[in-house]
Amino acid sequence: MSTIKKILTNKCPNCDHGHIYSNKNIYFNFTTNKMHKSCNHCGFKFEKEPGFFFGAMYVSYALNVIEILITVIIGSFFYNTIFHLNILIALITVLALMSSFNLRVSRIIWIYLLKNS
Ligand SMILES: [Zn+2]
Repeated sequence: MSTIKKILTNKCPNCDHGHIYSNKNIYFNFTTNKMHKSCNHCGFKFEKEPGFFFGAMYVSYALNVIEILITVIIGSFFYNTIFHLNILIALITVLALMSSFNLRVSRIIWIYLLKNS
């Protein structure tokens, strides 16, 4: 299983069987989706130390920049400029809708980046 697929399916980086979040659906889930302290299958500890997920903020920032670029590029094809009010409205909508997804995926990516440390 590729790493991207494991990240997008919420799998444990150590065993590929357990799930990081209690709810397997990490997409557009606005409920409180609890993160497990450790893997149910192999016992891999997800939060290595207090404040471990502070670094996930940088991953979330990168995801937001990618989403902004994609939205502005698509919008510029429709309006032939990047400075249009509808592009700004679409941008705010996309970022609001993707915020829940970004939070969860950025933490999962952070766990995968530092799984061997
Ligand atoms: Zn595991």
